[in-house]
Amino acid sequence: MSEEIVIGLEVHIQLMTKSKIFCQCSTDYIGKKPNTNVCPVCLGLPGSLPVLNKKVLEFAIRTALALNCKINRASIFHRKNYFYPDLPKAYQISQYDSPLGVNGYMEIFIPESDEKRKIGITRVHIEEDAGKLIHEGDIATSSYSLVDYNRCGIPLAEIVTEPELRSPEEARIFLIKLRNLVQHLEVCDGNMEEGSLRCDANVSVRDIQTGNLGTKTEIKNMNSFRAVKKALQFEVDRQKELLAEGVKIVQETRHWDESKNITLSMRSKEEAHDYRYFPEPDLLPLRVSQEMIEEVRKTLPELPEVRKERFIKIYNIPEYDAEILTSSKALGDYYEKAASLYPDKKVVSNWIMGELMRFLKEEKIEIEDSPISPENLIEMLKLMDERIISGKMAKDIFETMFKTGKGARQIIKESGVTQITDENELIKIVDKIIKENPKSVEDFNQGKEKAINYLVGQVMRSTKGRAKPDFVFEAIKQRMKKIR
Ligand SMILES: [Zn+2]
Repeated sequence: MSEEIVIGLEVHIQLMTKSKIFCQCSTDYIGKKPNTNVCPVCLGLPGSLPVLNKKVLEFAIRTALALNCKINRASIFHRKNYFYPDLPKAYQISQYDSPLGVNGYMEIFIPESDEKRKIGITRVHIEEDAGKLIHEGDIATSSYSLVDYNRCGIPLAEIVTEPELRSPEEARIFLIKLRNLVQHLEVCDGNMEEGSLRCDANVSVRDIQTGNLGTKTEIKNMNSFRAVKKALQFEVDRQKELLAEGVKIVQETRHWDESKNITLSMRSKEEAHDYRYFPEPDLLPLRVSQEMIEEVRKTLPELPEVRKERFIKIYNIPEYDAEILTSSKALGDYYEKAASLYPDKKVVSNWIMGELMRFLKEEKIEIEDSPISPENLIEMLKLMDERIISGKMAKDIFETMFKTGKGARQIIKESGVTQITDENELIKIVDKIIKENPKSVEDFNQGKEKAINYLVGQVMRSTKGRAKPDFVFEAIKQRMKKIR
């Protein structure tokens, strides 16, 4: 049987508003004492009434517009009823059959097949988050759990795709692009490990001959891009195996176990009607005026695709460089800061994409936390231009900069390497280098003025950067003219 993989994603993003979705509690809850960031509204106490935070609506519209969605001018909130210990109201305020944004798309590029694909966005809706259970010890053997309601009422936007992703790798590419987009929109910090961007996936397998679509399962608890790819691959393989054996696939929710690299059955999948959705009587229907939509559209920040084109045009760097440098907002910001301080934009991109990204990857550090600031990177490049350090020395100094967070000038100073001030000593070295490099002398005699640079570099190297570059340059020039 030849099969086609069918994957749809449900992504929750935490919107970075200052206050919660229906009350004035602060959204700054991480690291706070449990149950201190709450009020009668987010605790769902009797008599309390929710009021929609306008900023949440604005951020959700911004997200929906950037995903090319149609904005429903009239939408309503629904109660999604279910009991869970971290949900004190026993219902979640969400949107159901009338969401804020519908029928959008996002284009992704698949390097493997060298094609661009439009992935449909079914809907973008607004909802509130629940609290958090803290299990004592290991969840399986835990004797009790504690509940922290600080996260109750944190605003979320849920983004649902059409089941149009055709491989686990496509799902990973989509998610990376979506995170980059919401970061550029400044609506979500996109931190998967801290849970501000969460992804669930629906997976099924279609028989190509018959066109029959298999039963789908839902996968939860994937906390990184790598986990998404691994979990989906595991699930696809599991389903294919079952189908080959003629075993029926059960519709269920499965949990990705990162330590065992498997998906495990959590519960049989609930249907929408199990939730007894009904219109939220405490909130007015949501009406969005055309003016508000246009207002938000006008304030949309520069999106990654546009930024990439700008990088190519303004900085005159290859598309490949621009693609990588705009793959995250923070990386793009880092590059722009560095490029603003240095004339050769390609040199800047080479150092960032080469040495810096290699070190960051090795040490598993995000660009936001880079020990080398854009200013320090440029200081080092300028020291190279001034011929105070050679290219080879720069690589060593770069490593020290990365490990210590210090600037290049400071590192040179602290290493005790001081300049040679005795000019007679320098001239002796210059003569020695000229003698050792007859090819450069010949090049210079044939009019290649640049041969001097090479010789200066050799002097700098042999003195470990301790020579005065301007003096060496002049000395070599004088000597060469005599020889010529
Ligand atoms: Zn509150």
